[in-house]
Amino acid sequence: MKHNFGAGPGILPHEVLKQSAEGVMNFNGTGLSILEISHRSPEFEAVLNEAVALVKELLNVPEGYSVLFLQGGASTEFALVPYNLLPEGGKAAYVDTGVWASKALKEAKYFGQTEVVASSKESNYTYIPKDFTIPKDAAYIHITSNNTIYGTQMQSFFKSPVPVVCDMSSDIFSRVFDVADFGLIYAGAQKNMGPAGVTMVIVKDSILGKTGRQIPSMFNYQVQIDGGSMYNTPPCFAIYVSMLTLRWLKAKGGVPGIEQENIAKAKALYDEIDRNPLFKPVCATEDRSHMNVCFVMENPEHEKPFLKLCDEKGIVGIKGHRSVGGFRASIYNALPITSVHVLIDAMQEFQEKNK
Ligand SMILES: *Cc1c(COP(=O)(O)O)cnc(C)c1O
Repeated sequence: MKHNFGAGPGILPHEVLKQSAEGVMNFNGTGLSILEISHRSPEFEAVLNEAVALVKELLNVPEGYSVLFLQGGASTEFALVPYNLLPEGGKAAYVDTGVWASKALKEAKYFGQTEVVASSKESNYTYIPKDFTIPKDAAYIHITSNNTIYGTQMQSFFKSPVPVVCDMSSDIFSRVFDVADFGLIYAGAQKNMGPAGVTMVIVKDSILGKTGRQIPSMFNYQVQIDGGSMYNTPPCFAIYVSMLTLRWLKAKGGVPGIEQENIAKAKALYDEIDRNPLFKPVCATEDRSHMNVCFVMENPEHEKPFLKLCDEKGIVGIKGHRSVGGFRASIYNALPITSVHVLIDAMQEFQEKNK
């Protein structure tokens, strides 16, 4: 058995994989594959409607927001957000907390002025900047709730005089938060809600249509809302697997239930990193992510043999991102706590061997 700590595409629940495989062979007893039915068929419309309903239910999405399932990944939203929200000659504020945040910023520059209100770049993004002022004349402020590469996470959000846009790709559905604090939330599915190929967007309808700009149909959130995410052929299979994952999450007690599990998993692992003299954390304690746990070894020469031990134990995907080094254990919703304990046991065994 493998213990999948990969950062993304990440682990999916075993039963969801089984159900997905069944859907590929014979979808809901139709005698057809989910891969070969019309997206306009009542069967697929039921899948999409259930996916949207589950998002609204699990996140308590208030009235006045639309839920979209789009293609192009979170990286496309980096551009669609300013395309749809930043007026010609207007300004957008960005908090720079890592590679993804700065890539989002880069795209906004194609559409208008930008202001970086805070950045932790000088420390290689080991913390979340907290003291920043939100410019009242900004069209929106963009934040990244969880920094997948660096292992930092915003522990709380804030009230803002301008719409808050948040990239939640790597921690959506992992913890309770209030959608009403945001103007727009987006998340590539492949970290915590499904397979690659679909991106979820939750947008407050009233913030759209204010740029005075012509927006081509596929890139226009309003067109996508009016078309019910079916302006063109949607990524049917990725939406189906996401829907099954959300059903699984609901059965586990929804977001409050999984949040408790995520807290327990993260605590167990960080406790071991803090206790074990061979390992050390890389981020500020108060900003530690509950999704991506980054750590290095006191002695860099231990890294290769530790990776080898992990490999022997079936632990996969824990090599750190090249810009941080060391290790990154991604402990997304679908990773069972038993896998976290296998990793902790390996760390303890390695300590014993290297006394
Ligand atoms: C993975 C990731 C992205 C990039 O997602 P794509 O779907 O590959 O474009 C963006 N933001 C965050 C926070 C991520 O974790």
